[in-house]
Amino acid sequence: MELSSADKYEPVIGLEIHAELATHSKMFCRCKNDSSEERPNTNICPVCLAHPGTLPVANQDAVRKVVAVGLALDARVPDTSKFDRKNYFYPDQPKGYQISQYDEPLVANGLIVVPSGKQVRITRVHLEEDTGSLTHDRAGNTLVDFNRAGVPLMELVTEPDMRSAKDAREAAEELQLIFQYTGASYARMQKGEMRVEANVSVRLKGTEKFGTKVEIKNINSFKFAEKAIEYEIERQIQLIESGGEVRQETRGWDEAKQKTVLQRVKESAHDYRYFPEPDLPPLNVVTIREELKHRLPELPAQKRERFLREYGLDNEAVEFFVRNIAIAGFYEKAVSELGEWLSSSGHDSKGAYKLLRNYMLSDLSRALDDKDILFDDMKCTPENFAELISLIADKKISSRGAKDILLTMVSVGGDPSDIARDLDVFQSSDAGELEGTIKKVLEENPSAITEYKAGKQNALQFLVGQAMKASKGKGNPETIRDLLLQMLS
Ligand code: ADP
Ligand code: ZN
Ligand code: MG
Repeated sequence: MELSSADKYEPVIGLEIHAELATHSKMFCRCKNDSSEERPNTNICPVCLAHPGTLPVANQDAVRKVVAVGLALDARVPDTSKFDRKNYFYPDQPKGYQISQYDEPLVANGLIVVPSGKQVRITRVHLEEDTGSLTHDRAGNTLVDFNRAGVPLMELVTEPDMRSAKDAREAAEELQLIFQYTGASYARMQKGEMRVEANVSVRLKGTEKFGTKVEIKNINSFKFAEKAIEYEIERQIQLIESGGEVRQETRGWDEAKQKTVLQRVKESAHDYRYFPEPDLPPLNVVTIREELKHRLPELPAQKRERFLREYGLDNEAVEFFVRNIAIAGFYEKAVSELGEWLSSSGHDSKGAYKLLRNYMLSDLSRALDDKDILFDDMKCTPENFAELISLIADKKISSRGAKDILLTMVSVGGDPSDIARDLDVFQSSDAGELEGTIKKVLEENPSAITEYKAGKQNALQFLVGQAMKASKGKGNPETIRDLLLQMLS
């Protein structure tokens, strides 16, 4: 059988990722670094506007953040590093050059292992400054906003180790988590705090030499990254199969057209005329590196392993918690609260933890969606949440009642027992209370009793339903069922 053209080729992908650092101030001046500032040209000063005679001072916190990422990547962080000028004109870059790092980056030779087990080597991570931003209005004018000019930016470059669009997506997602866990960047793609560029080439399977690469820019979500790379792989294969040749160029992802489109033919390093930045002294990072070595936070891979081991969670739940740092913190507190209740109540702990897992993964987010509240803004505490789970486990409330209670808990807060009382959703599991109700139901439905005795299971269901109704929904269905069976026998 002849191989289809796609099977003859192997894609080769390398990533270049920019992330804005979560510092208070900009890279070389004291202006605020605030990506949510909507008033243009508010966070600006003579330094980031490049007025003649001004001098840059390097932001130590930005250096620390990149070093932390380097340590998290198990990379080499050399004792010294320096800044270089990268010369190019761009209307939102007032200096006419960008301060960046060329041959002595802060970080080199790292490695990540994504959840699938795939390893991706990190070539380098360096520190630079962001440009401002341009807006094109309807009248055809271009407006410039320098709020972002001089914001600390970290650029990470990977080796061309990925072999599929999915590999590349997973690597980018893992790097986002590492940036977030180390506190280096909020790395929200939709806010432009993290930007992914993918370098894509194809080669015949079994050959060593890499093909000519194309760089794809303008990718603003992980989903688009995967789609853009898939499209580009296919485009290159078809080009080669039809006798053409891949050109080294920069293309952009056009989401509307679902294709990559030519932007420009790439410039090479010498076009930038890099040279050491004369206005900044070299960096000595020994002290920072040695200090941070001992203060590295838990990393995504470690958290995966711990959540699996400590809480015995399934993969879906582990991944959910690893990707949602704040929700995971909430979960851990709720687990310990629930643990206290379990040890004093002697309940089936496996069942209760399973309930907690399910309520965290689905019911909570549904309640937040319903009330249009963000997790960070909700009023529900882990203590209250654990208590809600204990009420369900105790059969004091139904899952229906729990939903209503949860809506109140996320929007106004409070103790679930109080809310249950206010909403009048407590169930009765008290046999004495329920017996009277059931007796009455049996008296009123003699035919159902006859049917049940004739072996019809539906009749029992019917009687449970009638008793639930008679108790105005307060009876616990399982207790009612048990009592009915007792009385019928
Ligand atoms: P350039 O000099 O064009 O900037 P680099 O060698 O610095 O190229 O690599 C830039 C990025 O492109 C890196 O992420 C690297 O892994 C990736 N890359 C390099 N060569 C290839 C290739 N043939 N196919 C796919 N990606 C590549
Ligand atoms: Zn400034
Ligand atoms: Mg390069």
